[in-house]
Amino acid sequence: MDTEKAKMDREKTRIDLERAKTLVCRGVDDLAPLLRGVNRELYENPEPGHREYRSAGRLAGLLEEAGFEVRRATGGLETAFVAAWPEGAGGGDPVVALLAEYDALPGIGHGCGHNIIGTATVGAALAVRSLVPGGARLLVVGCPAEEGAVEGAGGKAALIEAGVFEGVDAALMVHPGPVNAMSGPTSCRLALEVSFRGRSAHAAGAPHEGLSALEAVLQTFNALNALRQHLPGRVRVHGVVVKGGEAPNVIPDEGEIRLYVRAPSVEELEPAAERVRNCARGAALATGCQVAFREFARTYLDLRPNDPLDQAFARNMTALGRPPVSRRDTGGGLGSTDMGNVSHVVPAIHPFIAIGPPGRTPPSHTREFAQATVSPEGEGALLAAAKALAMTCVDLFLAPETLEAVRRAAPGADRARPPHSGRTSKAARTPGSGRTPKTARTPGSGRTSKAGRT
Ligand SMILES: [Zn+2]
Ligand SMILES: [Zn+2]
Repeated sequence: MDTEKAKMDREKTRIDLERAKTLVCRGVDDLAPLLRGVNRELYENPEPGHREYRSAGRLAGLLEEAGFEVRRATGGLETAFVAAWPEGAGGGDPVVALLAEYDALPGIGHGCGHNIIGTATVGAALAVRSLVPGGARLLVVGCPAEEGAVEGAGGKAALIEAGVFEGVDAALMVHPGPVNAMSGPTSCRLALEVSFRGRSAHAAGAPHEGLSALEAVLQTFNALNALRQHLPGRVRVHGVVVKGGEAPNVIPDEGEIRLYVRAPSVEELEPAAERVRNCARGAALATGCQVAFREFARTYLDLRPNDPLDQAFARNMTALGRPPVSRRDTGGGLGSTDMGNVSHVVPAIHPFIAIGPPGRTPPSHTREFAQATVSPEGEGALLAAAKALAMTCVDLFLAPETLEAVRRAAPGADRARPPHSGRTSKAARTPGSGRTPKTARTPGSGRTSKAGRT
């Protein structure tokens, strides 16, 4: 009898789930004209990280109009927001967070397609809100400045510090790309600014009185190129010269480099970063310049998988006719995202959705990719992304066994953690997951710290 009843219960849950998923998909279809319009608005008004005033305002405004309780400027970030459904509730069991990004690339616009991320997230939230069961909570977290090029990038790391993810059971987002793909590994990334201070002099009249910061810059790159072959396989170092002098007849007294150091894990990142700093220290010694270091963006951590959550999303993508490929076997991308930091504290996914025909999507971080986000295929991906996110919310809210599996695979779940608590263990936080950029300038360098600039 029991078995028969259990079977019937399971069947009923399955039918309820199917019905709910059909409903949210219909909801997204009804929202299609609005979502296409918002996606295009963001595309036509791209804003770089920490300056996404219009984009964040538009997305948060839509949620507010729909009855979400919206808090703006979360965690001291002017363009962050948290929208909660139902309003006034607080807490929640479970709590599901949809993560919106909406920053663009300076000079390129939405070449990473964050207009689709922001719009799809809001579309999913609007479609699924009426199905959020009593006691549960749906959040939309507006996450500024994912692109690492801007000063102080890493909005999600700052929001983790602000406690936004405490109590969250799952954090979901989907990123536009060339193929439909499941979450894959990403690299840890340290954003290092190296500044040299030398002494200017007349380059022809009295070069012996000068100390060239430009030579220190050049020697750093030479040393890095010599170091490169001795770095472990997936460690990457790349950078640009920001300052190297102004006039050919003046020995440059200021030199500045911005570097990324990437590695598959935090454990491998710091030793690699120290070897990189040593290249700059050696260059400073050789040229008589002073050297100072500063992290100009937050350190991004590697993406930790949550298989049950990844698989739930993949099943929904498959149901939408977009079976995703696995990126684990191929080693995944070598890029970095602050979603990695989120995955260290709560179950998280960062899958991809194809915005172009197979093999014909323009490369990411180009104007052509930005145009593809508003093409018919891009708009199709936008709606499918909203549906897949909403369907996965349905799984988490209405299928207890999915939620339990996701919780069991949560960061820190193997440590003592009360069952059904769904709370983030603070102990699970990883060092470096959102460090405040700090000045590491050498004493006496005589330069004002720029750590405060944003
Ligand atoms: Zn991106
Ligand atoms: Zn990008």
